[in-house]
Amino acid sequence: MKFKIAIDGPAGAGKSTVARILAERLGYLHIDTGALYRALTLLVLRRGIEPADESAVAELFGETEIDMVLEPGGAKVLLNGEDVTEAIRAPEVSETVSIVAQHPKVREHLLHLQRQLAAGGGVVMDGRDIGTVVLPDAELKIFLTASPEERARRRMKELRSQGHKVTYKDILLSIRARDNLDAERAVAPLRAATDAIPLDTTGKDVDTVVEEILGYLSTVRRCDGCSTD
Ligand code: C5P
Repeated sequence: MKFKIAIDGPAGAGKSTVARILAERLGYLHIDTGALYRALTLLVLRRGIEPADESAVAELFGETEIDMVLEPGGAKVLLNGEDVTEAIRAPEVSETVSIVAQHPKVREHLLHLQRQLAAGGGVVMDGRDIGTVVLPDAELKIFLTASPEERARRRMKELRSQGHKVTYKDILLSIRARDNLDAERAVAPLRAATDAIPLDTTGKDVDTVVEEILGYLSTVRRCDGCSTD
């Protein structure tokens, strides 16, 4: 059986890296749902729309096609056919995305697409509300955390390697602001599902985390088809 694996957690906890490697190891597809919110945010910024204006953002839906081309080893994000895989990682997008993502209309709009992408199973999907809202039936749910300082250090390394000029202090502030917005929004806030396994990645390298998750997965696999009564 091909499982659905949900990986949630705050910004910079290592979700996307862990999910990508896990998917590679399993021959599964990796779906980074943050990329969908980022693609919409990129369009909001390009059009000069006020990110906090839910109706104005929702007006874009009719003329916006966001798609993910899922390929083993990586995904391309398309915004009206344009490859925006790199553009959506820009710091301006990171700073605005949580404002766009808090609108109920936006979440509803992207929910359908996310479920469609995961429909066949054999997926590792990462985000904030995968275990609670998008795939409540996922066979394995992991909630990844790490201290804000460690998350800021990781983000700084990643952004600098992509050529962005960023400071540790700014990233830490931005991560804290994003955590607050994501955890406190009314619809689908960042929260561990009651049946999610919490995993603190502070001080752990990616391979260790992936191995731990594979260990949990083998327990689920052994129990595939177990009677619940
Ligand atoms: O994962 P990433 O940091 O790229 O996500 C960007 C933003 O998209 C998050 O801070 C959050 O506001 C939003 N998001 C969300 N629900 C998801 C995935 C991302 O609200 N499932």
